[in-house]
Amino acid sequence: MSNQIPVKNVTPPTQGGDLYAKREKIHTRAFTGLFRTVRMYVGAFLFLLFLGTAWLNWDGHQAVWWNLPERKFYVFGATFWPQDFMLLSWLLIISAFALFFVTVYAGRVWCGYACPQTTWTWIFMWVEKVTEGDRNKRIKLDKAPMSLEKFLRRFAKHSLWLLIGLVTGLTFVGYFTPIRELPMDLLTGQANGWAYFWVGFFTVMTYLAAGFLREQVCIHMCPYSRFQSVMFDKDTLIVSYDAKRGENRGARKKTADYKAEGLGDCIDCTLCVQVCPTGIDIRDGLQIACVSCAACIDVCDEVMDKMGYEKGLIRYTTEHNLSGEKTKLLRPRLVGYAAALLIMISLFSYTVFNRTLVELNVIKDRIPYRENMSGRIENVYLLRIINKDQHAHTYVLEASGLSGITLEGKQNFEVQAGEIFSAPVSVSVDPENIGSSTNKIEFTIQSVDDQSISRSSKSTFTGPVIR
Ligand code: SF4
Ligand code: SF4
Repeated sequence: MSNQIPVKNVTPPTQGGDLYAKREKIHTRAFTGLFRTVRMYVGAFLFLLFLGTAWLNWDGHQAVWWNLPERKFYVFGATFWPQDFMLLSWLLIISAFALFFVTVYAGRVWCGYACPQTTWTWIFMWVEKVTEGDRNKRIKLDKAPMSLEKFLRRFAKHSLWLLIGLVTGLTFVGYFTPIRELPMDLLTGQANGWAYFWVGFFTVMTYLAAGFLREQVCIHMCPYSRFQSVMFDKDTLIVSYDAKRGENRGARKKTADYKAEGLGDCIDCTLCVQVCPTGIDIRDGLQIACVSCAACIDVCDEVMDKMGYEKGLIRYTTEHNLSGEKTKLLRPRLVGYAAALLIMISLFSYTVFNRTLVELNVIKDRIPYRENMSGRIENVYLLRIINKDQHAHTYVLEASGLSGITLEGKQNFEVQAGEIFSAPVSVSVDPENIGSSTNKIEFTIQSVDDQSISRSSKSTFTGPVIR
């Protein structure tokens, strides 16, 4: 028997259950509670992280800066080059596995607490509440004819939404262009045409997605919401209504012996529906539109408290728990994801921390060899040093592989931070020591100021064979 739990793929009642029905606007009620507080702190942290990493300076650069024209990516003091792109791919694969692991264990917590769509929607909903009032006032305002008050409230709401959209757009574009210069460049017309386009695009998209589309993005556009339900099993944490405890639902007096009346703990106040950002009724069972935000838990706990009933009629639980069985934490799938994650994170960390900060390329000249004034055989090479460090370094060049191999000319090279340095170099060998027409040699560079930075490159030395 499958261990998967059924997730209803239903259209929320706000759309009348019909995909082609006109969408009804969801007016959520304000509420307080533990999970709301957690979400507020997590959201504030992520919002500040998004703004902060673009505006913060680190080691003389923007903390995070994808410098596309120069093909350098600065991430908290480390510089990544196109050659390091494999690391980025690994990071994305690790993030995907982390998401799978979290989903199998705790369901849609990513959607409820960390997804940008959810975070920005809650911010926009807060603006709506500040400018237009709580749920009932907003419903009234919607129905009322245009008046000066309605116009001013709407104007304030849309202006603030656009302002947040603009800050979002500016910050996003600021990850790809120096953010401190961007606002002034945009104002004075000095910015690149693409900067205007992308700032405008992200401003409008934020305004539309968090202001108008909201739950539609989660229900109809987000691919994650579609495939995650197959990862759920009967031990996955989900937001659930305890029907055994709640039914039969119905209104009653606080002091009534409701059990004697055949009623359960649900007083049918519908507050859980009124706070739901996707407009669903969790009492109908787990639905694809539920983003696991726990707003219904917070508000129902408050109701239970007021009624003097035990909290948790709606709670984070598992299907097994609801049916009276024990929740299994160690399931093969979860352990598999955890093991794969651990291995990938270890390998990734090892690669990042042991990443060489210098690249060396030595390309041999097309002329095979020449004899110099001292009668030695000389080969010429093009030396290329890429300094990936954030600091300048002086490197000493050495050649080895043939007896008496000597570098002619300069042997010390100063390379600036992030510079790709090129210079011709030549090495000479006494003809007596050349054993074959093609000989393997090796070039090594060593930083004089940091012994841990060195790099080698293999090459060949050609010359006449003296028998
Ligand atoms: S908030 Fe709780 S008590 Fe009120 S309708 Fe929802 S489940 Fe029932
Ligand atoms: S049903 Fe509850 S947890 Fe799910 S989206 Fe609505 S309020 Fe959030």
